[in-house]
Parts: sequence; C-alpha cells; structure tokens
Amino acid sequence: MPSVYNWQIGRQMSYPYTESRPDNQFVFVFNLNRCLACQTCTMACKTTWTFSKGQEVMWWNNVETKPYGGYPRNWDLKTLSLIEKTNPGGQKWVKDEAKPYGTFNGKTVFEAASHETAQGPQKILGYLPSTDEWKTPNLYEDVPIAKNGAPNQWTAKGESLPEHEKWFFYLPRLCNHCTYPACIAACPRKAIYKRKEDGIVLIDQKRCRGYRKCVEACSYKKPMYRPTTRVSEKCIACYPRVEGKDPETKGQPMETRCMSSCIGQIRLQGLVKIDKDGKWTEDRNNPLYYLIHVAKVALPLYPQFGLEPNGYYIPPRWVPRPYLRQMFGPGVDNAIDKCLAPDRELLAVLCLFRATNRIVFSYKILKGSKTFETEIHGKKFTQYDDTIMGYDKDGNVVAEVNVNEPVHVRPDIHLNSI
Ligand code: SF4
Ligand code: SF4
Repeated sequence: MPSVYNWQIGRQMSYPYTESRPDNQFVFVFNLNRCLACQTCTMACKTTWTFSKGQEVMWWNNVETKPYGGYPRNWDLKTLSLIEKTNPGGQKWVKDEAKPYGTFNGKTVFEAASHETAQGPQKILGYLPSTDEWKTPNLYEDVPIAKNGAPNQWTAKGESLPEHEKWFFYLPRLCNHCTYPACIAACPRKAIYKRKEDGIVLIDQKRCRGYRKCVEACSYKKPMYRPTTRVSEKCIACYPRVEGKDPETKGQPMETRCMSSCIGQIRLQGLVKIDKDGKWTEDRNNPLYYLIHVAKVALPLYPQFGLEPNGYYIPPRWVPRPYLRQMFGPGVDNAIDKCLAPDRELLAVLCLFRATNRIVFSYKILKGSKTFETEIHGKKFTQYDDTIMGYDKDGNVVAEVNVNEPVHVRPDIHLNSI
C-alpha cells in the first residue's frame, strides 16, 4: 500500500492510493460551546437535498447529543472498539512539539484492516450499520452522563465551568470531505472522487452500483444507501453555492445551506489553499487557517482514524478532558485554555462566525479602545472596542462585526402584535 503523510497524526501512514491533494480544500469549524441542537442546520439540509422518496432516514447533516447519542447509533463507539480489538492498549499519542498534536502511534482504520476476510480482502476497518441503527438521528437527546457513568443518575453536588460532573454536549456532523477518504479507498467501482478545485468529495450516481462499501468504510458513517435508486448518496457540500453559482452572490463563493442557517452562530466554513507539497499554504488572515493552524483551537474529529477530516471543532469547555481527548486528540487542553479567556485576536475572529453567508477569505481587525478587564478562571481577560472586517475572494467587505455586543433597549410602550 502506498505511504502518505497525514499531518493530523504527525506521520506517514498507509492508504490505498498515492497522495494527491486539491488546490483548495473545503473546511469548516464548529464552536461546540454554542450549539443548542435547534436542528435548523439539519432541516436546512433535508429540505434542500434529501426530501424525496427513499431518503426518509437520510440525514446528511445531523446533530447528536454526546455521549449517548449517535447517528447511526453508536457509530463512533463501534469503530473505536473495532480498532481497539486489533491493537489492544496501543492506540496512543506520543508528545512531539514539532507536530501540531504530537504523533499518533496506534493504528488508523487503513492500518488496522485485516487484509483477508471471509468476504474477501478488506482494505479499511469498518462495519455496515443495521437498518435499525439508522432510524433515530438523535436518540438520547439531552441525556447527561453522571460521575458514575450512568445516564440520568447524577449526584446532588453543584458544578462550575470548566468541567461538570454531569454533562452532555451537542455534536453537529456532516461529511468531512476528508483528505484521505475511506469512502474513495473502499469503492470497487471508482465511483467516488475528490474535486481538485475545492476538495469536495462526490459520488458519481451513474457509476455507483450500491455495493455500500463506502458506507461500511467511512468511519464517520456519512455515505448513505438509498433503497429506491439502489445507489449511495452523501453530502455534496452544496457545491453550486461554494462555486459561486447562486444568483444572489454574483459569482462570489457562498457557504453551504447548513452553515448559513445556523441559529447558534457556531459555524464558519470556507476554502483554504493547499501547496503543491500538500501543506496548507500559510494564509495568516484566513479565519480558518488562523483557528486551526495559528490559535490551534479548532481540532479534527477522531484524527486517529487517519482520514484527515476537514471538519474542525472547538471543544466544549465543561466536558471532562479524557472524553474530549479521545474524540479530538491531544490538542484539547491547549484549545480549552485559550478559549476560556480568549485573547484579543481570537475573540474578534470568533465574532466572525455567521456574520455573512459569503465565504470569508480574509479578515482584518480595526483596533478600538479598552472596554473592560476581568479575570476568568484565574486568567486575565481584556475586551476592546475592536471591529473585525471579513473580505470575500476579491477583497470586498462582506462582514463587519463589533466585538462589544450592542445593547438593545425596548421602549416602555411598544406594539403588541399578537
Ligand atoms: S467523511 Fe466519510 S463520506 Fe465524507 S469524505 Fe470522509 S470518508 Fe468519505
Ligand atoms: S443550526 Fe447551529 S446551533 Fe442549531 S443545531 Fe445546527 S449547528 Fe447547532
């Protein structure tokens, strides 16, 4: 098997195809501290792409409640335990200051696959969820875990941030348009491809024969089988919008439907440039580059699976660290420390989330005077009257947000419009 470089795990790894990176990559960052599970994103996607016959239980975007929820049910637990069985006790990260999160010394799903099975050679470790497991997109919604590990049986003790004794959080998910997609690696028909111009991963509906190898292989379980057409389907990253084909934008790239509709303002999506050698081009003022590679507060979901996913998450502050570390890797502590009392630049960039439905390619901070200072969990926090400007592909202003939130006071007498 060819050897490719996966920067998220800090090493070369085996992958069925040679390394081939796009010129630009579709990337998103979700701030999990803000998601309220309103499911607006889920419905925005469903009403756009999956409202037809045969797509009833198909949710390209879903929001699950962790730790118990999952769509399909227990998708991550199942993959984690499959890998653990092949490498008991060996799924470990090793510290390495030269790598963003250290080096992962365990096995990825490509390396853990047993190459011969009763059904023939298996290239990627995975499983096919049952029909029943696809039925409930957010079973265990709002169910917290207690200190003793049982749902809904918490102690009477109080809690305070950053970690709670009883906790849950919402995890919005969609296809990660991975750099090393397991779906592509598994497809015997070569029906799945990654676009050179934006890294979006698509299934060619004419080539697909519905073998469901992609469903079995994708660790995130994001390709889904449609029984009415007998082919697989998946998130298409609203590619006409990303291409700037929406008449509203006059050629400017626009964020996807699920991103644009986010009520909690947790989502930021865009495109990052990729160098010829496969590295992210240094682009200091691209908000995604800043959050992922400079501040390092946005982390990949289960980087140890080895797919180099392009969805990144700012971890929730109140959740016990061991749980977060197994989900987002060793970068969790740095990310939470920085977000507890964000510095001037980080605070401004976090204000850019959902300021516009255009893709923001760069930002600039216009500095204002000091507003106040305080202490948060023993850390000094200072707020300034700064304004962050967001620019589109051609340098036009598409967002302008003041860090000091405006205060709206209703007049004493106002119309009752019921
Ligand atoms: S998340 Fe799954 S479906 Fe999406 S690109 Fe990665 S492997 Fe393929
Ligand atoms: S729309 Fe935003 S806040 Fe609402 S569930 Fe989706 S990601 Fe969370």
